[in-house]
Amino acid sequence: MSDLTELYQDLIRDHSKKPRNYREIEDAKLQLEGYNPLCGDRFTLYLELEGDTIKDISFKGSGCAISTASASLMTQSLKGKSRAEAEHLFKEFHELVTAEHPDTDEEELGKLVVFSGVRKFPLRVKCATLAWHTLDAALHGADKTVSTEE
Ligand code: ZN
Repeated sequence: MSDLTELYQDLIRDHSKKPRNYREIEDAKLQLEGYNPLCGDRFTLYLELEGDTIKDISFKGSGCAISTASASLMTQSLKGKSRAEAEHLFKEFHELVTAEHPDTDEEELGKLVVFSGVRKFPLRVKCATLAWHTLDAALHGADKTVSTEE
């Protein structure tokens, strides 16, 4: 195992054990549940927008290590970002975990690059992208549970 892989795994483990922004936002304007029936991951995402900016973002629920770490790192990455920046980052992240030869901007992705290894495990891709799909749906005004299996 390469040092890089180990570093990535450490970060994923850390965020799955101690998820950041793991709390409810009371009276959040945007609140949406995401569910991945293949794995059983189920989270509620809370978003507070100020104008076009994500002022606060958090999540609660339960899922596997990958889905929990992904939601945790996503909330960290998105706080203070604009809606457009968030959607752009979602595209980058999606490409990172699904494309065979992703053409992504690692600087922009920051810590999110730790999920690059996920593309080798197709079933895990849904775990890694659950929080992001939920975010995307919430930003587009969805009001019922987002499922990775449509
Ligand atoms: Zn999962």
